Amino acid sequence: MADKKAFEIARETLKQLTARKLTPTPANYLALYNEIAGIPHVPHFPADILRDISQGLPAKTPGQQKQKGLLDYAIDRLNWEGVKSALIAYGGFVPVNGSGSDGAAAPALNVVAAAAPAVGSAISAEFLGQMGRLIEYALPALGSDDPRFNEQTDNLLKAMRQPGADVTAIKLMLVNYSHRLSFAAEDQAEIRVTLLKLLHLVFENVAELSLDEQWLKGQMDALMEAATPPLTLRRLDDVERRLKDVIFKQKDAKQRALQTQEEMRTMVATFIDRLSQMSQSTGTFQQKLEESARLIEQAKTLADIAPVLKDVVGTTRNMARESQTSREELEALRSRALHSEAELVRLHQELDRVSSQARHDPLTGALNRKGLDEALNREVSHVRRKELPLSVALLDIDNFKKLNDTLGHATGDAALSHLAAVARECMRPQDTLARYGGEEFVILLPDTPLEKGIEAMTRLQRELTKRFFLAGTEKLLITFSAGVAQLAADEEPANAIRRADQAMYLAKRAGKNRVLGA
Ligand code: GH3
Ligand code: MG
Ligand code: MG
Repeated sequence: MADKKAFEIARETLKQLTARKLTPTPANYLALYNEIAGIPHVPHFPADILRDISQGLPAKTPGQQKQKGLLDYAIDRLNWEGVKSALIAYGGFVPVNGSGSDGAAAPALNVVAAAAPAVGSAISAEFLGQMGRLIEYALPALGSDDPRFNEQTDNLLKAMRQPGADVTAIKLMLVNYSHRLSFAAEDQAEIRVTLLKLLHLVFENVAELSLDEQWLKGQMDALMEAATPPLTLRRLDDVERRLKDVIFKQKDAKQRALQTQEEMRTMVATFIDRLSQMSQSTGTFQQKLEESARLIEQAKTLADIAPVLKDVVGTTRNMARESQTSREELEALRSRALHSEAELVRLHQELDRVSSQARHDPLTGALNRKGLDEALNREVSHVRRKELPLSVALLDIDNFKKLNDTLGHATGDAALSHLAAVARECMRPQDTLARYGGEEFVILLPDTPLEKGIEAMTRLQRELTKRFFLAGTEKLLITFSAGVAQLAADEEPANAIRRADQAMYLAKRAGKNRVLGA
């Protein structure tokens, strides 16, 4: 056919159009013409439309950017295969068969797909199980607000855990999953950044709204610093604790300041009242004097004047007495006002001091973090001087959130106080109790090797089983998990706490309500 003349091909094409009963459209004519002429049929390439589509695709991740670049490249070269494989890879899919040979992403994917059956047996159920666990561990970090993502996770995990799982199918699922995962991870990162910004705004606002900025400043600076990345749960816990402290103290300060202001207001009102009374009596006195003066003018004899004078003397005496009383009352008011003002100043000074120097947790009476730091320095230099062992225990109440959620925050607070009270009672006088975070306590045990430290904490556990916590009439058993570390010769004290914390964490993992040595 190739050596046919063009007009012959055209004539044959028209004939065939009629013979095959095809609609005489330009597209049908072109297809038939190519067939008869033996030219490979290349459909019209809608480059403009494709470019439009490409422009509409988001290029958020590096993977998306790469595939979008490949797509544009293929469009410029009017390359359908390239367009196809770029779009498939952009969507996170694997090509169904190895037909795509000139697309950039296709060969790599095909190699893996082809190799999959061969390595299928090598990818053991154990490997897939491990991968499943990896996905499960990563899930909490990705949130659970997207039902489609949750469903995809469930399906993937189910497929991975099926006996004799199909590795090729799982690979395809994994590619799709990682595509969606990249969006979910980005979302979570953005949510985190936004929440942090909000948190900082709240802190700034609290500082702005406080009655006296001075005493809060120290707390606010500490809060801002604690809420700066990199964030850890421990730091967030610290933020929560400090914020509660601030709220508690601010409430207290506001109440006392308002009370003092109210007293001042009452005093000023009384003062004005007295003043008006005074001017009233002065007015009466004035009238009386004028009346007396008139009577005196009219008087003809001394006998006429005598009663008037007596009256004047009486009125004057009354007036003197009244003003004396008023003066005394005013003096008393003034000194009370001065006293209140001094009290206000003293209160603010006390708040300043409390804010920067508090060593104790107001709820449990245990040392706070600042108090603990000082005690730890003291104890460490003491035991090092005397070459004695020092153990550090860190305990965390089990399922405390549940207690809070079911019985309320106030009961949670009471449970914390109860634990602190029981701990204090069964500790030796030289031991130190400190509140380390929300429901975490640190106990310093000087002159105590590790084994004895573990025994001491186990004793406290037993003591708590004997001394129930009473929530109203309900008897509750409070349990805790603890880690104990003995300070090593050259170890930083903070590191011993860290080790105790890790042991505590392992105790939680091992089923809670137990004590482990670090
Ligand atoms: P786990 O057994 O794993 O330790 O779980 P948990 O529930 O004890 O621990 P989680 O960290 O999930 O929750 C601790 C809770 O303690 C959350 C927080 O609201 C609460 N909390 C922290 N500080 C206080 C406080 O001062 N008073 C009260 N009532 N609750 C507090
Ligand atoms: Mg905790
Ligand atoms: Mg806990």
